[in-house]
Amino acid sequence: MTDSNTPNLNPFGGMSISMVDDTSSSVATGGPSTVRSGAGRVDAKVVIVGSGPAGLTAAIYAARANLEPVVLGGSAAGGQLMLTSDVENYPGFADGIQGPDLMAAMRAQAERFGTRLVDVDIDRVDFSERPFRIWARGTEYRAQSVIVATGASALWLGLDSETRLRGRGVSACATCDGFFFRDREIAVVGGGDTALEEATYLTRFASKVHLLHRRDTFRASKIMIDRARVHPQIEIHTNTAVDEVLGDAKVEGVRLRDTESGDERVLPLDGLFIAIGYRPNTEAFRDWLEVDEAGYLVVRDETGSKVDGVFIAGDVHDHRYRQAVTAAADGCKAAIDAERWLESQGITEAATATAW
Ligand code: NAP
Repeated sequence: MTDSNTPNLNPFGGMSISMVDDTSSSVATGGPSTVRSGAGRVDAKVVIVGSGPAGLTAAIYAARANLEPVVLGGSAAGGQLMLTSDVENYPGFADGIQGPDLMAAMRAQAERFGTRLVDVDIDRVDFSERPFRIWARGTEYRAQSVIVATGASALWLGLDSETRLRGRGVSACATCDGFFFRDREIAVVGGGDTALEEATYLTRFASKVHLLHRRDTFRASKIMIDRARVHPQIEIHTNTAVDEVLGDAKVEGVRLRDTESGDERVLPLDGLFIAIGYRPNTEAFRDWLEVDEAGYLVVRDETGSKVDGVFIAGDVHDHRYRQAVTAAADGCKAAIDAERWLESQGITEAATATAW
């Protein structure tokens, strides 16, 4: 779940849960911030892997259904919104909200109802039988049901200057940040459908969009390329690599290199959108769950998976919408499905079902 490419901007202050060894092998109910485990073992009705909008919304719903969920949130807890500054499209915040503030609020809301959060990366899982088993930093979690909400990580170029100016003109989300570039000159990096789609979308705001692609042939579909080629606000630069993002407090331009001749030049810009693909965080689940050709988990019947009792929510399966609000909605659905499934298995009583 960690994106080694990105800094850990966790504002939550690390572990929010204390692992207490005692002889009991079940989760104590002594409060939301303490999980008691026997010999490094924790038992739970629901373990949620991931603490972005999908994972934390699933936690809010599961906790309110008395399922006492355990969230294994990852060492870089909070997901992609932790790397976003202004969020203006999440409903309920008329003046917008900072990404980390939104995630801190979701986390507090999940904890308020008894969610137990552990900010660890999982090492491996075994979904061959129930209870399902998940190992993380020396502890074995045994879960009657699991919600996988590990998200996807945007790929970055890997330049120091890109990391430094992320959120200051460098973005990986046109839907989130395009609005801030009204009447500005910006660039999109990439040659796939995402880059072409984002370049076209960004013409709604920007006065001019440069598409920077490192080769002279595209992975994107022909119709998308044709549309971009004739668009009066889009200029396509092929055989063009970004070697440096320029600017101190904000993006002021990029240093480009012709990948054939090696010639360098500077292009003044106000913003740079990196659209070179995403990597869904599925490593630990590949042996157990279905993965599609692009590497995303395959869902069955809304939030289900090929393993009964294992549910999937958010960007780890969704490469179409990739929005905080759609991930949150998915988390809600997965928690409701998990709760109903636990009830159908006789693991929880119908009486625990909440009016959501
Ligand atoms: P993609 O198809 O893998 O394309 C990634 C692009 O980024 C490629 O052009 C690649 O260049 C470039 N790239 C990768 N690493 C780079 C680096 N380090 N520096 C510079 N350029 C780099 O990814 P995608 O565009 O996100 O699409 C993923 C999948 O989603 C595809 O199957 C796509 O069809 C689908 N999708 C569909 C739609 C739609 O139908 N509306 C919209 C978005 C995405 P090279 O070509 O040189 O490797």
